[in-house]
Amino acid sequence: MGQESKHIVIVGGGTSGAVLAARLSKDPALAVTLLEAGPDHDTYDGLILEPSRAPEFWMGGAQVAQTPMLTATGAIPMFQGRVLGGTSATNGLATLRGLPEDYNQWADAGLDGWGWDDVADTFIAAERDVDFPSSPIHGSDGPLPVRRWRREEMSRAQLAYYDGMVETGSSTVSDVNDPSQLPGIGVFPVTIDDTGKRVSTSLAYLTPEVRARENLHIRTATEVSKLAIDGGRVVGVTLTTGEDIHADEIVVSAGAIWTPWLLMRSGIGPAHHLTNYGIAMHADLPVGETMSDHLGPGIPYRHEGPRGGSAGPAQVVLVGASNGTDVDYHAFPIAPGQTDGPTEFMMAVFLMRSSGRGRVQLGDSADADPVVTAPPLPDDGFDRLRHAFDRIAAWEQSAPAKALGCEPIEPHDLTAPDAVADAYERFPFSYAHMVGTCPMGTVLDADCRVLGLQGLRVADASVMPTIPSGNTYLGCVMVAERMARKIMADAS
Ligand SMILES: Cc1cc2nc3c(=O)[nH]c(=O)nc-3n(C[C@H](O)[C@H](O)[C@H](O)COP(=O)(O)OP(=O)(O)OC[C@H]3O[C@@H](n4cnc5c(N)ncnc54)[C@H](O)[C@@H]3O)c2cc1C
Repeated sequence: MGQESKHIVIVGGGTSGAVLAARLSKDPALAVTLLEAGPDHDTYDGLILEPSRAPEFWMGGAQVAQTPMLTATGAIPMFQGRVLGGTSATNGLATLRGLPEDYNQWADAGLDGWGWDDVADTFIAAERDVDFPSSPIHGSDGPLPVRRWRREEMSRAQLAYYDGMVETGSSTVSDVNDPSQLPGIGVFPVTIDDTGKRVSTSLAYLTPEVRARENLHIRTATEVSKLAIDGGRVVGVTLTTGEDIHADEIVVSAGAIWTPWLLMRSGIGPAHHLTNYGIAMHADLPVGETMSDHLGPGIPYRHEGPRGGSAGPAQVVLVGASNGTDVDYHAFPIAPGQTDGPTEFMMAVFLMRSSGRGRVQLGDSADADPVVTAPPLPDDGFDRLRHAFDRIAAWEQSAPAKALGCEPIEPHDLTAPDAVADAYERFPFSYAHMVGTCPMGTVLDADCRVLGLQGLRVADASVMPTIPSGNTYLGCVMVAERMARKIMADAS
């Protein structure tokens, strides 16, 4: 590394960190070190690469960190990727942006540069859309290959859901990232390659050519224990091995759960919480106090066998609007293809617009895993989700659902007044879209710099001040792309 290079250390080589490392190391004036707690992406095996096997990870795989999310009625298991590529290596691959108004809300809150007109180009530039390469709302030469699931890749249950929703009145949507087509029934776009294998952000961005750059140093199996802070400036990190690494600037991209954990352990967080642990304070900020997520109930079903049919991994989604126009829920069967096996599946319903806030806090000790508390559903949440339940009740009576031999595992009346609340109490689900634990506005400025300290930024799901009404993976890519540009501009 050249002596006069600015040394940037990125903590976490996940969804966002991999993007940052690739983009920043393009600038030869920067020396970039990427520190990732998990193993390298050459350890991806059939479980990771095969999209239809992702649910096996969610039951706890080798390359995940488990942190249950507490709700009023019990704990929801939660798994974050702990491997190069992070949760983009273990998630459901759904590649949605959210809606223009989600980002306009950020700009309206005073966060310059984050309105839809500012961020749309970044979403477009990140993707290589094989279905709509010449559409003005899609990109054709970005790092992430995007395509939509095809009909022949749908399992029998997914097909029956799609066809039954069409029969009972849903419009069909060819592109769920095109707001003008919503609401309606469609399929998720996903980041997979020509052979149908998962493409995480590290595979897409940290290519062999990028990794060959002399100014990029990637260290896997390397966990950061603490930030080193000296007189209001963050000057480096300490690893769990005790090794110290000096940096001119640190970017923490450890994800919405582990980023606030690391900041709090380092004395950046709510003083009323951290003083319980005897941690020396460096900045009294509401770190971890404003976590958002998409939550909702599940409805268990079974159908007559066989399970797989066309045996594909495709995932169908009803992007719904409880008032008929403004998208505010997703409803879809979690019913992967594959060949044999049980024919039970869960119908998941998620509220996509919610202002409820949960928390990430330190656990029994500052070294223990964090405690994650789910946000409450808003007061009108159950009422809005009734629309989804009515649609699913209608679907149950459709010819495709009958032909599938689909029935609830326990008898139910989805149109009963308390049906949504009852289902949420029994089967609470998280979409695993935790964001906003170090948000711009209260913990960070609009350039994602931690308030009151020098030399420290955050760039991952934590920075989002409110949750977009789409899945969050692509939003993290957008945040990382924009922060890379900002850091390079500041450095020059
Ligand atoms: C089961 C599941 C399914 C999901 N499905 C979808 C989906 O289909 N579509 C979608 O859009 N979103 C989905 N999401 C959400 C989405 O994947 C995440 O919002 C996004 O990937 C988060 O990216 P990130 O960069 O914030 O964090 P991550 O990708 O989690 O990256 C954080 C990285 O930091 C590393 N790290 C943590 N602590 C340290 C440390 N102390 N030192 C060094 N490294 C550290 C971790 O190992 C990890 O690699 C899903 C999430 C889950 C959990």
